[in-house]
Amino acid sequence: MELSRRGFLKVTGVGATGLALSQLGIDLGPLQAYASGMKIEGAKEVISICPFCSCGCNVLVHVKDGKIINVEGDPDFPISEGGLCAKGASLMSLHTSPERLTKPLYRAPGSDKWEEKDWDWTMERIARRIKDQRDKDFKAKNAAGQMVNRVESIFHLGSSQVTNEEAAVLHQMVRALGMVHFDHQARICHSPSVPALAECFGRGAMTNHYNDIGNANAILIMGSNAAEHHPMSFKWCLEAKRKGAVVMHVDPKFSRTSARCNFHVPIRSGTDIAFLGGMVKYILENKKYFADYVVDYTNASFLVGEKYSFKDGMFSGFDAEKGKYDKKAWAFEKDENGMVKRDKTLKHPRCVINVMRDHYARYDLDRVSSVTGVSKEDLLKVYEVFCATGTPDKAGTFLYALGWTQHSVGVQNIRLSGLIQQLLGNIGIAGGGINAMRGEPNVQGTTDHALLYGYLPGYHSTPTANFQKLDDYLKAYTPTTADPMSVNWWGNRPKYVVSLLKSWYGDNATKENDYCFNLVPKMDPGVDYSHMYIFDRMYKDEIKGGLCFGHNPCQSVPNSNKVRKAWDKLDWLVMGDVFHNETTDNWRRPGIDPKTVKTEVFLLPSAYRAEKDGTISNSGRWQMWHYKAVEPLGESRDMGTMFVEMMNRVRALYAKEGGAYPDPIIKADYPEKFEAESITKRINGFFTRDIEIKGKVYKKGQLVPGFPMLMDDGSTTSMNWLYTGCFTEEGGNLSKRRDLTQTPMQAKIGLFPGFSWAWPMNRRILYNRASVDKNGVPFNPDKVVIEWKDGKWVGDVADGGYPPMAQEGGKYPFIMTTEGHSQLFGPGREDGPFPEHYEPAETPLTVNPFSGQMHNPVMKIIKSDMDQLAKNGDPRFPIVLTTYSLVEHWCSGSETRNGPALLEAEPQQYVEMSHELAKEKGIKNGEVVIVESLRGKTEAVAMVTVRIRPFTVMGKTTHLIGMPYCFGWTKPKCGDTTNRVTVSIGDPNTSIPEYKACLVNVYKADKVTEL
Ligand code: SF4
Repeated sequence: MELSRRGFLKVTGVGATGLALSQLGIDLGPLQAYASGMKIEGAKEVISICPFCSCGCNVLVHVKDGKIINVEGDPDFPISEGGLCAKGASLMSLHTSPERLTKPLYRAPGSDKWEEKDWDWTMERIARRIKDQRDKDFKAKNAAGQMVNRVESIFHLGSSQVTNEEAAVLHQMVRALGMVHFDHQARICHSPSVPALAECFGRGAMTNHYNDIGNANAILIMGSNAAEHHPMSFKWCLEAKRKGAVVMHVDPKFSRTSARCNFHVPIRSGTDIAFLGGMVKYILENKKYFADYVVDYTNASFLVGEKYSFKDGMFSGFDAEKGKYDKKAWAFEKDENGMVKRDKTLKHPRCVINVMRDHYARYDLDRVSSVTGVSKEDLLKVYEVFCATGTPDKAGTFLYALGWTQHSVGVQNIRLSGLIQQLLGNIGIAGGGINAMRGEPNVQGTTDHALLYGYLPGYHSTPTANFQKLDDYLKAYTPTTADPMSVNWWGNRPKYVVSLLKSWYGDNATKENDYCFNLVPKMDPGVDYSHMYIFDRMYKDEIKGGLCFGHNPCQSVPNSNKVRKAWDKLDWLVMGDVFHNETTDNWRRPGIDPKTVKTEVFLLPSAYRAEKDGTISNSGRWQMWHYKAVEPLGESRDMGTMFVEMMNRVRALYAKEGGAYPDPIIKADYPEKFEAESITKRINGFFTRDIEIKGKVYKKGQLVPGFPMLMDDGSTTSMNWLYTGCFTEEGGNLSKRRDLTQTPMQAKIGLFPGFSWAWPMNRRILYNRASVDKNGVPFNPDKVVIEWKDGKWVGDVADGGYPPMAQEGGKYPFIMTTEGHSQLFGPGREDGPFPEHYEPAETPLTVNPFSGQMHNPVMKIIKSDMDQLAKNGDPRFPIVLTTYSLVEHWCSGSETRNGPALLEAEPQQYVEMSHELAKEKGIKNGEVVIVESLRGKTEAVAMVTVRIRPFTVMGKTTHLIGMPYCFGWTKPKCGDTTNRVTVSIGDPNTSIPEYKACLVNVYKADKVTEL
């Protein structure tokens, strides 16, 4: 009998689900001999999930005598098939590390040491500080006299490390306390993905999923080093390549991704729109688009209103005084019935496709080549291969990550890939789509649960002060359409908002109840409460205390010299983490006398992934359960328990003492104890009374089976409508499912509908109704996603169960956009309906050859005495710096720098530079150099390499260097963060900072001059 290792584990009962095979008549002799040689003999096997990238690799944790003795990849997990990258393979050493925080620590104001404290004392003191600060600074009204019920002097930052359940109770607590300065890692990693993808298709998530990458015929990896940052995504690129796909990497530097692709094309950082704008021109000029798809499913035929124009880099509607566009200038033309006018012949000059053709006419090969530094041959090579997928039987996909998002045009970088995919008919199909590879392990789920100031869970805008009534708020954010063929799913928003309020405030919440609506704090319209602004206000002494969980902003936020100074100004600070990092220990950083730092710091030891239950959502929207394998190390606790206890202690203080507007805290329907699965149920939602829907009776207390059953009359609760359907009376907790069964149709494209659960409604490929023609016949019969058969859809869960367009009762396929079509022309973003090339905020150029507008005219600029910007073409800083992470270290490195094997592989800060630049600067490989900008300087070891080459830009040699951003001063004590030199400039839509392109200079360490 031949058995694989996994098969062996299964049959011998080493795993928790093992079988007694002697009962099946199998001779166990050889197997027992094998087992006795294994360290996991007799161990319990528990399923957990890697806590690093958003591939969400499942792992098997082996536990013996209450201790983790082994961690390995789960062969049943469809994405990794048992593989793990270096980080996943280090999980055991990280969980059992002697560096772990195991007791609550306290640092008194001005003290130079940590003191151990017990939980009771610590939590009581924290509750007291929160309450006192809130009572002191609570604002019932804003300067305009509008009710706002908020506190501005307390912040919360983090965390994409928490589970969905922890995020749900955290969000509820933060809003109950009245906080508006509330943000997490998505702001600085993938915040542009939501507004970019939502503007194109209606939802802000990765359109397909990791396994599906293997179905592509052409893969364009741009703004990502997939092999190192999302290693299991790259496994599926290689699978596609094995089947004949062409895999291309367009990126400033040659990396392990480039090495395994068909070819690599270097590009100057910050010029992706120029590159892709040239591709749009190529598609339109060479008629490479999928004509039926474009006419029927996109808004190509819509007529743009006469107020729209574009001149010399500026769209119409710009208000110079406000520094903003009036988006009404970009509205579509409508007829007397409110229907958008269309010309399906595409002849009208104001048809979207013609306006688009005019816009990108300037993106010719010469101009694109001169700006990007990419040769015309290379441009054409990429355009030809990728645009060959604009046929019904071919699929092309994009993979991107922070290389696109972290720019002052981050949203429009992604939008432009959406335009291309619409033209080529690559949305909704197997092997197509836009694969937004989210950063941290649960940044998808925690974005869904909106640990971000501007949203409530489920992507509802946080109310602003101009909405004093729930009805007004709902009207403003609930779109309407005159077109009966458009589903306009966001028309259901009132049901989701009321169900959320109902789950937060129980009996007080009904559609008519403004009292409940006003328990939620209101922002001032137009005010930005995100990361860069939080630190700016902290620096200006406007923020006094706060909470920071699973986040290391003193390392990972740009312009970290300023961030660290701002952090010094806090009166009190509560942090929860697994290890010490640059933020927990900021008060004793090099060069600082702790006596001068007044902050009272509470550091709470956090349980690690295999020490707790709960779900995370990977980038492909798979909501997956992980089990607690062992008790938390020492006295550490899961963050859900910390949040719930913190809130309940504050609540007890308000119950006893009263205080500023206690209602949102006292009246909250908040759990007394954190228990993950009961929160999963709350997230899903319940019926609050007996109710009949479409002839079926649901009883009070029953789980709501799906979001189509949520109501706006108070009869349902749900902490997040997207997840309604994840926990059902019939199926139980669907995130725990591990059924690999598929129909032959599903198996052909690897849908795995029985493995875990995916939002929405277990749909694996979003917009899949665009993979079929108007009668529901698949465009590509070899890779069918769904098909209309005998009056119903088969295959994946159809994106809207309505019949296909040409059938009776048929609807358009893009159910989440107001008019039912994907949007080539997107009138809703801050910086224009079409992506336009602007130079980064700091650029080596003095002219933008595409227009007279050098930079994004509405980018966010932070102003303070520590926020200097180099001028265009500044001779003092002629080099472009780009930053990145490594396969061995994750994000700020605050966890992975505690892994001995990881640290051995990547031990210190370095800077990659070309041989040409090194020669120019007299730098040798391995020498210590200083990298400096107008914001500061940092030390690194020079890595002189052919992986980076000089670019010829506008006829001149332009150098680019690259640095990882995951090294900091706490350990390994060789090199501090790259963010000491990066810039506080933000995209106008989401304020993501421009990490990926700023101007620096580089010197041998002995030649540095003081700035
Ligand atoms: S870091 Fe990502 S690819 Fe690596 S093991 Fe973890 S989840 Fe998988």
